[in-house]
Amino acid sequence: MSVQKDTDEWKTFMRHLIWSKQKSNRDVLCLKCWRIMKYEECVKHKGIMPDHTKSILTSKEFASETKFITIARAMNKVIIEEGKEIYENPYKSKDRRGRPSTQMLLYKEELRKKEEIEKMIKENPMLANIDISQITAAGGGVNIIQCT
Ligand SMILES: [Zn+2]
Repeated sequence: MSVQKDTDEWKTFMRHLIWSKQKSNRDVLCLKCWRIMKYEECVKHKGIMPDHTKSILTSKEFASETKFITIARAMNKVIIEEGKEIYENPYKSKDRRGRPSTQMLLYKEELRKKEEIEKMIKENPMLANIDISQITAAGGGVNIIQCT
């Protein structure tokens, strides 16, 4: 699930976020899981994942628009598409825990392909003369080997 900045969805999301700070039992954000949890969930989470304890932020540290944006950028939870900022939503229901959005998956797949090509060029410097966009358009790495 992801939220695009400055949409109605975003406004609802911000209301949730600010509410996190006002509740008596404040919510926390686990950076490793990118998940906002209730206080009781957090206690359980620390028990199951003791190494996440240091990655848990209190609402004071994340529950404002500016703070959230800064953290999301630092954690690579933002994709920018045609000037639109799309954020991975840290509010996840239990049964969908940690499942990234399709958009995020596509983006990561794209990144993975790019890295693969870059690695290939490093190993075979002569490939650097080939237009990378053509390689991608040709559908991935296999074709390069045929080219050389
Ligand atoms: Zn965690």
